[in-house]
Amino acid sequence: MRPQMLNKDKKSSPIIGTYTSNIGGHAIQYTVKRGARCRYARIEFRPTTGLSVVIPRHYAPDRVPALLQEKQEWITRQITKQRPDIHLNNPLRIAIGNPITFLGHTIRVTRNSAFGACKKGAYLMGDKLIVNCDDAALEKVVADWYRKQALLILKRKVDETSALLGVKYHRLMIRGQKTRWGSCSRKGTLSFNWKLMMFEESVIDYVVLHEIAHLQEMNHSKRFWTIVARYCLRYHEYRKWLRLHGQQIAGLAGE
Ligand SMILES: [Zn+2]
Repeated sequence: MRPQMLNKDKKSSPIIGTYTSNIGGHAIQYTVKRGARCRYARIEFRPTTGLSVVIPRHYAPDRVPALLQEKQEWITRQITKQRPDIHLNNPLRIAIGNPITFLGHTIRVTRNSAFGACKKGAYLMGDKLIVNCDDAALEKVVADWYRKQALLILKRKVDETSALLGVKYHRLMIRGQKTRWGSCSRKGTLSFNWKLMMFEESVIDYVVLHEIAHLQEMNHSKRFWTIVARYCLRYHEYRKWLRLHGQQIAGLAGE
């Protein structure tokens, strides 16, 4: 079976191309790359970048489909394992002693007993978010902490993903919208909701990928979803998950 060529990357890239093959009854997309120092062909799977095959210098790319057939059980297992299996532990109420969610983990809001003598703010210690403030400032202090984390984490993810897709963005903004997780303007400004920080990283990666894919395709056309699918095979599930759980978070304070 010959793979169907979808896209050929730039000459400078070690990527030979992106193909689709029928593996275990599913149409699965994968990328074939040359590995400078690799001696044997190897198959890799990552939730965000999907399936890729790294082949040595003299390995003919048309041998790859047969290799994939040979390893189809392993591949199917990797792909079906990748479900956004995320639970949110009462993310809605920011109060002292309450569990809230950060990157899919439960953390507990705990007040520093000496908060009066400390600079107003919050910091993470193990599974505790220690806050230095009174009740009146609590929501804002916690939201500000999330925003700070959002900027650090999203900056790294946005830089990595835009480099991966070979696109440039203009700037990155963190917001607290009620109804959106992210957006991409025509000028290339990427905005993300700090409340994404409550989700598991794989969900955040999907939202980042989605907005960055808009830098290539400013719509939700078939071409847009083809770009998304190239780097996130199970994007349907992330979309569904965000629709289901999104509302739980969106109403949170800290606009
Ligand atoms: Zn979109």
